[in-house]
Amino acid sequence: MTPVLVLGGTAEARALAGELATLPGARPILSLAGITRHPVPSKVETRSGGFGGIDGLRRWLEIHTPAAVIDATHPFATTMQDNAIAACRQAEVPHLRLLRPPWPNRPSWFLMPDHDAAARHLSPGARVLLTTGRKNLAPFAARTDVIFALRTIEAVQGLPDNILPMTARPPFTDEAERGLMERLELTHLITKNAGGAQVAKLNAAEALRLTTLVIARPPLPNAEITDTVEDAVVWLRRTVAMRR
Ligand code: NAP
Repeated sequence: MTPVLVLGGTAEARALAGELATLPGARPILSLAGITRHPVPSKVETRSGGFGGIDGLRRWLEIHTPAAVIDATHPFATTMQDNAIAACRQAEVPHLRLLRPPWPNRPSWFLMPDHDAAARHLSPGARVLLTTGRKNLAPFAARTDVIFALRTIEAVQGLPDNILPMTARPPFTDEAERGLMERLELTHLITKNAGGAQVAKLNAAEALRLTTLVIARPPLPNAEITDTVEDAVVWLRRTVAMRR
């Protein structure tokens, strides 16, 4: 069986690994960062934890000799993305970046280049639903004149007084999101342009006329890129066939 490394942590990675498991001769190995203590279960062989940078991943590739690496990590997981590109080049392993399309801009959005700009944009007294994850919280922590409700899948410890933790696992409905925003008397939503199906918060914020600040996607990597699971499967079939 030919191993194929799928870098995961997203719904697409799970879907892709599941698809690859049905291909004759393919043995997908789904890789998770190991940050989430209770990840969504997968029937596919799974490894967990960082590789140890570019060198660690290159060594992993040399030991496990996968036919290809498909990086289906989150569009904002740029360290893993860049490490995978470099390690695959060094180890001469075919590499594909699976990047789900960004959400199309909505007229009501304010587009932000980064977290700092989003934090600077807020007016004193703002009450914000923050869905940007557990990283890069410093600019928001510094806005002690603003209250943030930080929504993550698992609890985040050690937050400053102005960032209130909230745990919830998607999917969410438009109604539930509207209810949350009304109950907490929110004035703003800050989100990254993750793309994908989870748009209820965007719809609810728009319906309630909350100010929505959307952090732009990182630049596209210098790599072969696809945006659907189906195309990634086609790419893998072609790549494996060419190497036979
Ligand atoms: P990151 O900054 O790009 O990566 C940080 C380090 O985490 C990497 O250098 C690598 O460690 C390890 N890592 C990341 N993804 C990995 C994977 N799939 N398998 C093994 N090691 C991995 O990543 P991040 O933004 O912290 O995201 C971490 C994970 O959460 C990713 O798998 C991503 O798909 C998922 N996720 C991220 C976001 C987001 O907004 N960034 C949202 C939802 C899910 P080593 O250098 O030691 O190899």
